[in-house]
Amino acid sequence: MAPDARRSRAFLLVGVAIPLLALASCAFAPLLPRSGDLEAYLHEIPIPGRGSYAFVPPTEAELAVWRQAVAALVQGRPARAAALASRVDYDLVRFRYAGTARTYFVLVERRDAGGRPLKGRGTYVYTPRGLRALHLQVPHPLYDRETRGEGIFLFLRLRAAALSLAGTHRNANETEYSPCDGTFLDGNPYRISDVAHFDKTFFEVFHEELLRADPQLVALSLHGFSSAFPYTAIVSNGTPQDRGPGSLANRLADALDARLSPHGLQAGSCNAAGFPDTLCGTTNVQGRFANGSPDLCRRDAPRAATPERFLQLEQQPPLRRPSGSVSWETVLEALAEVFPPRPYPSDREEARAPGTPGAPGRSQRAW
Ligand SMILES: [Zn+2]
Repeated sequence: MAPDARRSRAFLLVGVAIPLLALASCAFAPLLPRSGDLEAYLHEIPIPGRGSYAFVPPTEAELAVWRQAVAALVQGRPARAAALASRVDYDLVRFRYAGTARTYFVLVERRDAGGRPLKGRGTYVYTPRGLRALHLQVPHPLYDRETRGEGIFLFLRLRAAALSLAGTHRNANETEYSPCDGTFLDGNPYRISDVAHFDKTFFEVFHEELLRADPQLVALSLHGFSSAFPYTAIVSNGTPQDRGPGSLANRLADALDARLSPHGLQAGSCNAAGFPDTLCGTTNVQGRFANGSPDLCRRDAPRAATPERFLQLEQQPPLRRPSGSVSWETVLEALAEVFPPRPYPSDREEARAPGTPGAPGRSQRAW
């Protein structure tokens, strides 16, 4: 072959190989390794505020890819989950929590040049070895003040299975209304950026796939309210129906009430006989899914699931404080009582290891 012909063939090969390599690198999205303080990492993820219009509703195709990514993650195929998540602008981070033997998977949205999450679709943390079959959900960060910090705190201290943090303020898209049931305090419908009241979200799909994958898992949706209503905490299973004292909602309300009453405060349950049906979460789409509603957007669930798979916790400001006579710790103690740990051999080993957060031997109590 003449030198010129050889050179042009070489250029041709390079010209084909480079685009192929680029394609391959798109399809192969590695798990991003990271270690450090997971609590600080989750606090640092920016959440755009009211009126920012930072939430971009996903298309049906994007929801389908996301569903596959979440399913792969909970089925123990993180490499596949990372590749799928990459197609909807998410990275899958394998996070080693410093000072512990624990590893968490974090689905974190990529950001623009200004550091803002691309489409405001939220942050999702999962561990296959969660000690408690509990999925903490924070659908209203910023608006329900302190609930993001509370959710992160409870998730890590309880060593729960999962945590979901909404990607924006509930009214980020202030004039774009959800087609789903319910009315916001201003008399307008809920907004599409409100993940508790719009069912076409990554938040909802993550919730659904986790409930499907783990039959013991219970979702706990953390909220805040402030009114003259004489209860500091109101628990609900997403319906107003009365249940017996053994119901999860009533047990959590009782566990909170036992800790609030010494301070002259009280907790109630929408599912206890005689309790007024207010702030019961009946239009919450995550609750409707857990309770088998045939139309998450427009139909109340006919009845609560048995056993209950969804709880909503409405909290007055005192319970949403990091510290104080009544605080996040009060909620932590009540949840630890109602949700016993699921034993795993490696967790028992870690529980014996001194100096790890959540383990005996530190000032922080072990749960
Ligand atoms: Zn709320």
